[in-house]
Amino acid sequence: MLAPNEPTFRQSVDMMFNRAVALMDLSPGLEEKIRVCNSTYTVRFGVRLRGHIQTFTGYRSVHSEHMEPVKGGIRYSPAVNQDEVEALAALMSYKCALVEAPFGGSKGGLCIDPRQYEPHELELITRRFAYELIKRDLINPSQNVPAPDMGTGEREMAWIADQYKRMNTTDINGNACVTGKPAHAGGIQGRVEATGRGVQYALREFFRYPEDVAASGLSGKLDGKRVVVQGLGNVGYHAAKFLSEEDGALIVGIVERDGALVDDRGLDVEAIRNWIERHGGVAGYADGTYVKDGATVLEHECDILIPAALEGVINLANAARIQAPLIIEAANGPITAGADEILRDKGTVIIPDMYANAGGVTVSYFEWVKNLSHIRFGRMQRRQEEARHQLIVDELEQISAAMGSTWSLSSDFKQKYLRGADELELVRSGLDDTMRSAYQSMREVWHGRGDVPDLRVAAYLVAIDRVAKSYQAKGL
Ligand code: NAD
Repeated sequence: MLAPNEPTFRQSVDMMFNRAVALMDLSPGLEEKIRVCNSTYTVRFGVRLRGHIQTFTGYRSVHSEHMEPVKGGIRYSPAVNQDEVEALAALMSYKCALVEAPFGGSKGGLCIDPRQYEPHELELITRRFAYELIKRDLINPSQNVPAPDMGTGEREMAWIADQYKRMNTTDINGNACVTGKPAHAGGIQGRVEATGRGVQYALREFFRYPEDVAASGLSGKLDGKRVVVQGLGNVGYHAAKFLSEEDGALIVGIVERDGALVDDRGLDVEAIRNWIERHGGVAGYADGTYVKDGATVLEHECDILIPAALEGVINLANAARIQAPLIIEAANGPITAGADEILRDKGTVIIPDMYANAGGVTVSYFEWVKNLSHIRFGRMQRRQEEARHQLIVDELEQISAAMGSTWSLSSDFKQKYLRGADELELVRSGLDDTMRSAYQSMREVWHGRGDVPDLRVAAYLVAIDRVAKSYQAKGL
C-alpha cells in the first residue's frame, strides 16, 4: 500500500519526466505534447459466465503516436486502473525510443483476477475484450500491437490473434496484430524468456564498466553476487534462472504474493517455480527460511535487488531500509518518485525500468518484423553460412595435411563454428546488441554531461530527445 503522501504511478512517471526535461531545451509546448497521454479508451462489456452476465472493465491507452504502430502489453489484474494504464503507456513510448524499436507507446489492462477463472472462461473474456479493441483499431498490425504483461501470456496472445483474424479474414498480416504468441502460432523463439533475458544482458553490460559498478559500491563481476528477486513470474523467473545458471549469481531471496524464501547459500529457482505452480505460492517449500511478511525481504542484505512483480513496491515507507546497493527494475515502476530520491541520496544505483525490462518489446519487435516478412529469421542464410564455414575448415585441414602436420581443429571448435545460427540464436544476438547499445547511449549521457545525476534521468534524456526529434521531423 502506498502512503497517502505518495504520488500515483502516473504522477511518479511525470515527475521523473519533469526532472529530465528540466535539463533539456524543449519548447514548453513540445514538452507538454510528449508528456501527455493522447487517449484512453475505457470499455465495459458483459460475458455470460456460470449462468449469469458478468461485466468487466478494460482499458487501452495510447500515449504517443510519434511512430506507429503503438505498442504495449495487456495486463490482467484486479488492480488495473486508468492511472496505471496511462503510466505504463508513457513508459512504453520512452522505452521504445530508448531501445530504438520503431513504435509509439500504448498499454492495455483488464480488471480481473485471472486465477479466479477457468481457461475456457478466460478465453471467452479475452476474445470479447479483443473484439471491443479490434473494432476500434486498438488492436491492428499497423496501428496498435499488444503483447503480454502481468497476468497474460502466450495463450491469451494466441486467442487475440485468432480473434483479429476471424474479424479481418483478408488481412495477410493478421498475425502481426499482437506479439508474444506461441512459436507454433506465429510467435518467435525466445519471446517468452525475452524480458528476463534482457535483465541478464543489462546486468552483464553494467558489469562491463568498472566505473559504473564502483558507483554502486560493488566490485568485480556478476559471479557470486547475492540477488533478491520479487515476483517469480515470467520476468522474475527467467532473470533469476539465467543469472544463477549462467552467470554464477546466488539467488538468496525470492519474494512472492504469499511470503518469501530466504537462503544465503542460494535458492533453487527451478524447484521453487515448480513448487509455486503446484501450490500457488512459496509457503511450505522445504528449503530456505519462509518469511510470512514477504515485502520485508526487499530490505534483506544483498548485492542486487530485482523487483519483478508490480509497481510502487519500493516507496516512502521502506526506501530508507533498502540495503541493496544496486537495483534493477525488472517490473515497471517498482520505485516511486519519492523512494527514488531517498535511494539516490543513499548512493544506490538504479538501472531503470525503461531500459531494464525492454527485452520484451525488443523481441516483440523482432516477432512483428517476422510476421510482416512471413519468414523465419535465418531461413535463407543458415545453411549457406554453414557451407562457407565448412569451406574454411576443409581448406585449413588440407593445408595442414599437405604440410605433413598432425595439427587439426578440435572437434568442439568445429561443432560450434560449423553450426549456422538458428532463430533463437539470432534473437538472442539481436537482443544482446540492443541491450548493449541502449546502455551505452544512457551511460554516455550519464557520465558525459556533468549535470545528470543517475541512469534514470539519462534514460529519459535519451528517450525524450528521440521522441522530440520525431515530432520535430513531422513539423510539430
Ligand atoms: P507475471 O504475472 O508473469 O508475474 C508476476 C509475478 O509477481 C507472479 O509470480 C506473482 O505471483 C508475483 N506477484 C504479484 N503480486 C506480488 C506481490 N505483491 N508481492 C510479490 N510477488 C507478487 O508478470 P510478468 O509478465 O513477469 O510481469 C512482471 C512485471 O514486469 C510487471 O511490472 C510488468 O509490467 C513487467 N514487464 C513484463 C514484460 C513481459 O514481457 N512479460 C515486459 C516488460 C515489463
